[in-house]
Amino acid sequence: MAACRVWAWPSLYNRGMQRIYLDANATTPVLPEVVEAMLPYLAEGFGNPSSAHHSGQRTRSAVEQARGSAARMLNCSAQEIVFSSGGTESDNLALSGVLQPYLDRREPAHLITTQIEHHAVLHAAQALEARGIEVTCLAPGSDGIVSPEAFAAALRPHTRLISIMLANNETGAVQPVGKIARIAKAYNPQIVVHTDAVQAAGKLPLDMAGEFKNVDLLAVSGHKMYAPQGTGMLFVRKGVALTPLFLGGPHERQRRAGTENVPGIVALGRAAGLALDWLKASRGSHLASLRDRLEAGLLAAVPGAAVNGSTTCRTPNTTNLRFDGIDAEALLIALDIQGIAASFGAACQSGATEPSHVLLAMGLTPAQARSSLRLSLSRMSTQDEIERALEIIPATVARLRGLAKKEKQAGL
Ligand code: PLP
Repeated sequence: MAACRVWAWPSLYNRGMQRIYLDANATTPVLPEVVEAMLPYLAEGFGNPSSAHHSGQRTRSAVEQARGSAARMLNCSAQEIVFSSGGTESDNLALSGVLQPYLDRREPAHLITTQIEHHAVLHAAQALEARGIEVTCLAPGSDGIVSPEAFAAALRPHTRLISIMLANNETGAVQPVGKIARIAKAYNPQIVVHTDAVQAAGKLPLDMAGEFKNVDLLAVSGHKMYAPQGTGMLFVRKGVALTPLFLGGPHERQRRAGTENVPGIVALGRAAGLALDWLKASRGSHLASLRDRLEAGLLAAVPGAAVNGSTTCRTPNTTNLRFDGIDAEALLIALDIQGIAASFGAACQSGATEPSHVLLAMGLTPAQARSSLRLSLSRMSTQDEIERALEIIPATVARLRGLAKKEKQAGL
């Protein structure tokens, strides 16, 4: 097998300019170790894991090794891992997979979810509602967290599924999923609890035998944890029945038909192993200290800046800041020109910029949501980058505010 030449990501990403990547919640760079692990399966290590011959058995073994590694990250059994194409598919499989049989049998079924979910859950819930599932969509507090009491109050005898994200993609706010799952199971052990852990995996410990022992389904996306886009998995607790999304072969123990994405699965397995090492080495607190330095520096240097959401219960890499009077879209473009990649509290829908549904649900006005910027660090973020961001961002906000003032004075 030819030696794999693995690129060093900063040199490729920073071509010609010292770029600072602060958008890891959108996607993470793929770690060199992950690329190295998957490359052989894109080349001579090909083979269909369902084939009985040598090539097939070699890829089968690679898939099963990756499954073992993913299971170690979640402290669960390898048989409870179903590989998928990412977070969206895993969330859809969870929601439809649990609720489809009730629709088929025309039995009443109730789903409880929240207003701050990713569209992968929200749109799946809306589609199920249109087909007859009763849906309760709970609001968060101004800290971006949905209270366990709100879940307790929403439970009904025909509640069949709860879907609550573990960490929010925009604010990083960590939801009390373990407690909510406990309350649900105490009310009715038959209720299935799903959590979208796409923004938590690789950042927070996920223990399916400990804190999350009452959680039945958990969605993970590879490209939020340093593996490639188009990879993911769903944890399915032993004994939980799911109707598959796709019709086809008996892959993934009848839960996800389709020939396995071997290079992607190998990459996800390697990323899971690296995530576990990273968490065991307590690197999360180092990342949180960089994020805190960035946040405190911006709050001190930018008059009228404020944090959106909880500052105590959140992922270690995320801050969501509001710069009143600033159009975050303009700020984003100005920052990009200077080499900083960030994201703003709005989504482009049908060609128009809509304020973020998450920030609106937390009680922000549309104007406040439009002036909000998400900065999400990666494991590769450095102190130097944070210091440079602290020079660039306040100066850019001041310049944009100055321009806005001049335009106002000129009556534009
Ligand atoms: N859930 C959350 C919380 C996310 O942030 C995302 C992606 O941004 C998804 C689900 C969808 O994951 P994927 O991009 O792998 O389909």
